[in-house]
Amino acid sequence: MLNQLIFLIVLLITLGVFAYSTSKYVKYFKFTKKKSLSDFGKRIWVTIKVAFLQTKILRRPVVGSMHALVWWGFILILFGSLEMVFDGLFGTERVFSFMGPLYDFVMAAGDIAAFAITILILAFLFRRVFMHIKRFYGPEMKPVSKMDANLALTIILMLMITLLGMNVYYILWCESTGTIIHGSYPVSKLIAALFNSSPAYNLWTVYQINWWAHILWIFIFANILPYSKHFHVFMSVPNVFFSDMKPMGYVENMESITKEVKLMMDPDAAFEDDPEADESEPERFGVKDVEDLNWINYFNSLACTECGRCTSSCPANITGKLLSPRKIMMGTRARMKEKGPGLVAEGNSFDDGKSLVTTFITEEELWACTQCNACVQECPVNINPASLILDMRRYQVMEESKAPTGLNTVFQNIENNGAPWQFSQDDRMLWAEDLNVPLMSDGKNPDYLFWIGSAGAFDDRYKKVTREFIKILNHVGIDYAVLGTEESDSGDVARRSGNEMLFQMQAMMNVEILNGYDVKNIITCDPHDFNTIKNEYPDFGGNYNVYHHSQFLQELIDNGKINLDGKEFADKKITFHDPCYLGRGNGEYDAPRSVLDAMPVKNVEMKRNKSFSLCCGAGGGQMFKEAEKGDKEVFMERTEEAISTGCDIIATACPFCMVMMTDGLKYKNKDEEIKNYDIAELVSASLNI
Ligand code: SF4
Ligand code: SF4
Repeated sequence: MLNQLIFLIVLLITLGVFAYSTSKYVKYFKFTKKKSLSDFGKRIWVTIKVAFLQTKILRRPVVGSMHALVWWGFILILFGSLEMVFDGLFGTERVFSFMGPLYDFVMAAGDIAAFAITILILAFLFRRVFMHIKRFYGPEMKPVSKMDANLALTIILMLMITLLGMNVYYILWCESTGTIIHGSYPVSKLIAALFNSSPAYNLWTVYQINWWAHILWIFIFANILPYSKHFHVFMSVPNVFFSDMKPMGYVENMESITKEVKLMMDPDAAFEDDPEADESEPERFGVKDVEDLNWINYFNSLACTECGRCTSSCPANITGKLLSPRKIMMGTRARMKEKGPGLVAEGNSFDDGKSLVTTFITEEELWACTQCNACVQECPVNINPASLILDMRRYQVMEESKAPTGLNTVFQNIENNGAPWQFSQDDRMLWAEDLNVPLMSDGKNPDYLFWIGSAGAFDDRYKKVTREFIKILNHVGIDYAVLGTEESDSGDVARRSGNEMLFQMQAMMNVEILNGYDVKNIITCDPHDFNTIKNEYPDFGGNYNVYHHSQFLQELIDNGKINLDGKEFADKKITFHDPCYLGRGNGEYDAPRSVLDAMPVKNVEMKRNKSFSLCCGAGGGQMFKEAEKGDKEVFMERTEEAISTGCDIIATACPFCMVMMTDGLKYKNKDEEIKNYDIAELVSASLNI
């Protein structure tokens, strides 16, 4: 009875301290913005896949399986911990043993897991302390972060040792007293065989010491967590549940801007609005400080394990730039920790003269991002640093008018000419000179609209790709047409550079034209426009079946409409560079590879390929601005990787990638030896058309 009383008191203290420690987080959430959730079925499935089956971690099989084993082991051990709480409260002994064989199975699995976790934690500690793993380092990783990680690993080690100790002495005590052993403990049984029998009361005492030590370590650990980065133990599973369900390439629409743009495009709409709504304080565009975050952004920051997987795959960080997506998340958490108490005390009017953007995260960091989503892909708990970076860019551009010079010029050009370059809208069809290209305005209502895109219409190198693709369409006899001078920039560059207003104007304008022609199917060679039209135009009423040209070509091959066994590139070694907005953004890795596989060529993969692929460095508006300071340019890193495959041809499927790879080959003086072709060019050359 005394034991039960002591246990109850310890448990109540644990729960009380835990509730106190976590209550501040609850209060801070009140200062974040609302965001609603939908797709609950999908969320459950993603949580099972990512959180419980650890599918993201297992993409790297060796280290991934070590982490996954620890996690699965913990889930099994949790069952035993729950049983200990019941036993402690009610004075029972192995209360769940009534479950019979199932109990035996779970306890046996937990016993094996405890042993495996002990070994793995020792390996992790060795790795952290003695091996210089790059991702554990970085300017944001202060000594306290490293201590925090090592302390947590040490506590887990103590938990496992005491658990095994508890099982070993339980077995020894049962054997010495002839008591039935409840549950099965294969590892502990082997260890128990190594110990000489002692008097039963000694065995019981050591068993009890281990029992209490184990449960107390659990209680201590639970109360250290809210003050440590390991708070993610509680936050990571719900974080996966709350994560983005749309394709990675999708950028969430800003409804407040939609309202503004609609008013600009149709001033009469102002009178249809609720007059009371106009009196409310205007919302800030983008994120300047923690009160501008939505609750999921803040949740993300608390779920961040500081593992650095995001940073070690970030092209900006890899090439020595200041940006580290891990720091974005750590900075967000730290800023709320700093400002939160003031907000709680004084409300939203509290101002300490600092802000998340500039004080914690500099402009240089924000403008180094290529919006490639590698960080989002890598994060084991589905955190999205890229969307937070974009929200901060939105603040910079729309509230502070602070965009890099090159991007300001791009914004002006899109506004005036409907393209990022200073070309007249009337010149959008110059690429088609001497080709037979039908226009939508001809009124034939074709099966497909071929969306040229700004680069396809104006970039000298990519105009050639557009022409080759047109030749393929004509060769196969596809019923298609183009918008010609009615087409305008998709707005992708504007959106990812933070100019949401300009993006939405472009989107609404384009959707109106596309819907006016009752367009159903769209093909485009530009993965950025493919992503924008497919995933983002539906927010503006534009719903189409959108195909990237690689997908369309794959279909033509699969249906036997084209045959690529010509000898044009016979035995050439080709490596394919995945465009971020086709691959990671939309999960399409196979179509371009299938097209290449249909040719008599040797395909070689770069070390970083498919979902691990490295960005070419042009996305997120980078193509139109000076690169931020670093050790080298992203496109050089990628070109070097392509060259190291020993390829004859770098195949691309995106206008931006093409510019970057072509430039990279020139800088490396390899442009004579190695050629860069778009897959459309490879196909048309193979067809000899
Ligand atoms: S989106 Fe790409 S460039 Fe931006 S932070 Fe993430 S990994 Fe780095
Ligand atoms: S954001 Fe995700 S990948 Fe990056 S450090 Fe945090 S948990 Fe790791």
